[in-house]
Amino acid sequence: MPIVIYDYSKCTGVAECAESCPVDILEGSANGRWCKPVDDEVENNEVLQKYYDEVDQNDSSDLILRFEMPSCIECRTCEAVCPESAIEIES
Ligand code: SF4
Ligand code: SF4
Repeated sequence: MPIVIYDYSKCTGVAECAESCPVDILEGSANGRWCKPVDDEVENNEVLQKYYDEVDQNDSSDLILRFEMPSCIECRTCEAVCPESAIEIES
């Protein structure tokens, strides 16, 4: 299953990744500072919610999110468009 690795220490929130994801599993955070992976197929949503709370409330973070994302089709568009190399997909 694809794993999305998202490094918040590098992310500048430009959101090219979210705009280009063909299956819409990346979206902007509530505070507009970041993007975050969202996938209805993720089973352990409680853990994901903990990350959402952190990134929705903070303007800086060293968080590295590493998460299985079942809906990811591994097109790697997000990696290609991110100007900061802040997002990676692992097969
Ligand atoms: S494209 Fe890169 S820098 Fe921009 S929001 Fe996505 S991960 Fe962050
Ligand atoms: S690899 Fe493709 S489907 Fe997966 S998160 Fe990135 S843009 Fe979306």
